[in-house]
Amino acid sequence: PALAERKRMKLTIVGTGYVGLVTGACLAEVGNEVLCLDVDASKVADLRAGIMPIHEPGLEALVSRNQQAGRLRFTTDVDEAVAYATLQMIAVGTPPGENGAADLQHVVAAARQIGRRMADYKIIVDKSTVPVGTADKVGEAIAEELAGRGVQLPYAVVSNPEFLKEGAAVEDFMRPDRIVVGSDDERATQWLRALYQPFQRSHERLVLMDVRSAELTKYAANAMLATRISFMNEMANLAEALQADIEQVRRGIGADPRIGYQFLYPGVGYGGSCFPKDVRALRRTAEAHGVQLRVLEAVEAANDAQKHKLVIKLVQRLGASLRGRCIALWGLAFKPDTDDMREAPSLTVIDGLLDRGARVSAYDPTASKAARKLLGERIHYAASPMAALEGADALLIATEWKEFRSPDFDAIKRTLKRPLIIDGRNLYDPAYLRELGFVYDAIGR
Ligand code: NAD
Repeated sequence: PALAERKRMKLTIVGTGYVGLVTGACLAEVGNEVLCLDVDASKVADLRAGIMPIHEPGLEALVSRNQQAGRLRFTTDVDEAVAYATLQMIAVGTPPGENGAADLQHVVAAARQIGRRMADYKIIVDKSTVPVGTADKVGEAIAEELAGRGVQLPYAVVSNPEFLKEGAAVEDFMRPDRIVVGSDDERATQWLRALYQPFQRSHERLVLMDVRSAELTKYAANAMLATRISFMNEMANLAEALQADIEQVRRGIGADPRIGYQFLYPGVGYGGSCFPKDVRALRRTAEAHGVQLRVLEAVEAANDAQKHKLVIKLVQRLGASLRGRCIALWGLAFKPDTDDMREAPSLTVIDGLLDRGARVSAYDPTASKAARKLLGERIHYAASPMAALEGADALLIATEWKEFRSPDFDAIKRTLKRPLIIDGRNLYDPAYLRELGFVYDAIGR
């Protein structure tokens, strides 16, 4: 069919997490008919009832609008999902396996369930972040299932890694910098071109390449971003030792367009569901191929160390034992505007505090529920930023939520037992806070 006829397409999305749900909702928004499949029956039931499984700005309205329009549906029925569309997009999780390599069991299971049921041409799109060579594995899994059924059917496997950021996922998907498509199959390439045509109205954003390069592109992008963070964290540590201010240094280097201001903030280390696991997985891939990634080894080591910074600074102020102390923590999520707690640096901070005998009273605008699943009642979950401070000896800040940016410092000072703030996100002006009578430690200044 001509491109114009194909603008409206049907597609199945396998896996309805951060990536699958956002992708499904955004593709429905531009007029496609989308069926989202998940093995998690309670998630599917919630979504059908209009209950969002995750916090992501703009997502709820988008899902509900497209659900009402009948363009977005949710199912646990694999038969229905496979039969539904030519395009089968795999967006299941690829969590770290035992040795840090990406665990592909969900991806392969998704491929097998397609191979077991398909009755006509399918384009399997790998949207999950998967190591180089995974498209081949997906293809082999489907070939095996088809051979087992004694049938021969055409199919193509395409790599289409996702670059959305949690906290701005809908915006990123709707206005992508680039759409990477790795395909060795011209017919499949045309389908993806048509699928993404509505997202590149101002100019071409499709970056076409071979499958393996596309798979590597995703890891290279995340590894580069993680490198920037670890680099800035190490510069911040050096700035502290030299009595320089990393914030001034940041502005000085960011002005160079080759460096740029974005993603240049020191902090408490990177976390989340992508950078830590993807850096580790890329290192395992390199090892398996006898290639040394010295820079990434250092990036990871620097990050592991950085996650302990807040507690180290606190101990410098209060002494090694925190027994009998209560410490307030603002921010649990690994970054603002998300409730994702996977590998959040706050978890390392909390462990460090609890190990030293402290009690922790934490506040986060959205991540408390997700945190409770990981931490249970080991910490107290406060209902507001101020409530977290009651009876606390110090305030630690782990996430740069907007609502922490201009707090009522008088109220903070009145509520804390001592005016001690250790800020892992450099939210405040050190001179101003000292003027207000705070002991204020930040990162690299
Ligand atoms: P997630 O854990 O939020 O969601 C995965 C979903 O897949 C879950 O709902 C799970 O129940 C479902 N699932 C697992 N096996 C299934 C099967 N066989 N059939 C149907 N559903 C199944 O994961 P996520 O954060 O959305 O990440 C998905 C992938 O996208 C990962 O590879 C990740 O690295 C990558 N990615 C994530 C982000 C991000 O910001 N979260 C960004 C870019 C890429």
